[in-house]
Amino acid sequence: MSDTTPAAADAPDPIALARLRIVLVGAQHPGNIGAAARAMKVMGLADLVLVAPERYPDPEASARASGADDVLAAARVFETLDEALADCVLAIGTSARSRRTQWPLVDARTAAERAVATTAEGPVALVFGRERAGLNNAELDLCQLHLQVPSNPEYSSLNLAAAVQVVAYELRVAAGHGISAGDVHEPVAIADMEGLYQHWQAVLVAAGFLDPDDPKMLMRRLRRLFNRAAPDRVEVNILRGALRALDPRGLPNRKPKDDQAE
Ligand code: SAH
Repeated sequence: MSDTTPAAADAPDPIALARLRIVLVGAQHPGNIGAAARAMKVMGLADLVLVAPERYPDPEASARASGADDVLAAARVFETLDEALADCVLAIGTSARSRRTQWPLVDARTAAERAVATTAEGPVALVFGRERAGLNNAELDLCQLHLQVPSNPEYSSLNLAAAVQVVAYELRVAAGHGISAGDVHEPVAIADMEGLYQHWQAVLVAAGFLDPDDPKMLMRRLRRLFNRAAPDRVEVNILRGALRALDPRGLPNRKPKDDQAE
């Protein structure tokens, strides 16, 4: 044994791995759920969330999980993607197809680096879609970043569990580089970002800028802008305060100072 034996410097950061969540939306084949659990465990991931799975629990899921029954047994099930993401500070949607330019699209490696770096602030979700139809637009809207595994443009769709495997591998490699504690700002949960978007929408409608009967792409473009900017808690609070002050309907009625008022 020499002194040059590599140290464990490249061991993946256990905190980063623990804060990475794999979310399967509307999975149709229980075998894929089991295989995804196995793919996760091999890469050291444990937080599996299922949103409205078609068949679960199911013996086929357990069979395909092989030795990863613990990951499967600990999986949480939610009815909606909003619930699954509520406490996350970043959600990354995955897609086999490059869609229109509405969402920032990155490759798996870049997304994994961003995901791991963001675990310094809180839980980060990687969201996978249905075998047949992938994620719908409303679900993609809940994700701030979109990931595509580079593949053959004429045959671009990986099997669901295979996609989880590729992404989980990149997450493990990225976690090996450690996380930088340098640039930590106070995180904003996805539920709070949704509150901000609803506030924008209400004020823009009240101001006559957004026509609710013909909204075009305005709200999605604003989401895209904020996703690129990744505002922190203080910045979101400033925006909420500014929206309240600018709301043409006026500030919400304050309670009279004493009961005699009126
Ligand atoms: N027919 C669907 C394919 C879904 S494949 C579609 O066109 O969208 C099931 C899931 O696996 C996808 O929703 C996505 O989460 C993941 N997936 C498959 N291929 C992928 C790829 N090349 N990059 C990223 N995710 C992929």
